[in-house]
Amino acid sequence: MSEIVLEDAALTRRQAEKAAYENNKLHKRLCRQVGQAIGDYNMIEDGDKVMVCLSGGKDSYALLDILLTLRERAPIRFDIIAVNLDQKQPNFPAHVLPEYLTKLGVPFHIENQDTYSIVKRVVPEGKTTCALCSRLRRGILYRVADELGATKIALGHHRDDIMETFFLNMFFGSKLKGMPPKLQSDDGKHIVIRPLAYVKEADTERYAELRQFPIIPCDLCGSQENLQRKQIKAMLRDWEKKFPGRVDNIFSSLSTVVPSHLMDANLFDFAGLQVTGEATPDGDIAFDEDPCATPAAMPGVISIQPGD
Ligand code: SF4
Repeated sequence: MSEIVLEDAALTRRQAEKAAYENNKLHKRLCRQVGQAIGDYNMIEDGDKVMVCLSGGKDSYALLDILLTLRERAPIRFDIIAVNLDQKQPNFPAHVLPEYLTKLGVPFHIENQDTYSIVKRVVPEGKTTCALCSRLRRGILYRVADELGATKIALGHHRDDIMETFFLNMFFGSKLKGMPPKLQSDDGKHIVIRPLAYVKEADTERYAELRQFPIIPCDLCGSQENLQRKQIKAMLRDWEKKFPGRVDNIFSSLSTVVPSHLMDANLFDFAGLQVTGEATPDGDIAFDEDPCATPAAMPGVISIQPGD
């Protein structure tokens, strides 16, 4: 009997050690990816005051948590202030974020603005409310950033959001346009950053569970998740399952753009293209390699050799 108890205790200890190891690995990975994105796009500079927009969802909690860790280790000095916009949605638990942030010792500001009533009043019943809601929220957050003297506005969008937006714009907006890791706000007065740009949503999900963030549900407004985004999400998950590596390749391609091999005359001067007499090592040849190299490996494809 006592042997069984000892074995159980050993098993529990081993499981706990394994979980701690995995969690530590995840934390390290998130820190590395966020640090990398910040460095690659020069998101945060010495003396910045970063306003971290905190919705109460898993991603924004993860963003704040990782930024706090990185600030401890960074060779530069920057301030962090967490901001939550209380949109007065029914049943919004207004005490959750102030309690969490106070415990953490992070300076914060809660902005109370009843955008929920405006949206409900203005948007006809049955129509999607997100467009107006986002526009109102954006305007308020820009104003708050001004009032707080924030030099950067950090949002919790991650790699999956970026990919989904890319395909949404392509499929439904006929544009090759994603969600940039750093951009100037549309009022021209702020720099918006997305430090989670390299982080997978699955990792923020696991991290939120691990850290037991007090998540506030995101469906309090009663709006349904955008159906088109849902479909794109499902498409990407399906690709990832069937063709491992494909989604990684697509994500990498977003930062390896070759304007001379697309069709936008605003990005490349096709009209003025002239022969230079000089070979271009990274010209078309690079793109011929794969399609031409595959026939021998493809069953049922007859390879035609020069001279056949
Ligand atoms: S889901 Fe609700 S809170 Fe979120 S943007 Fe849409 S309307 Fe606004």
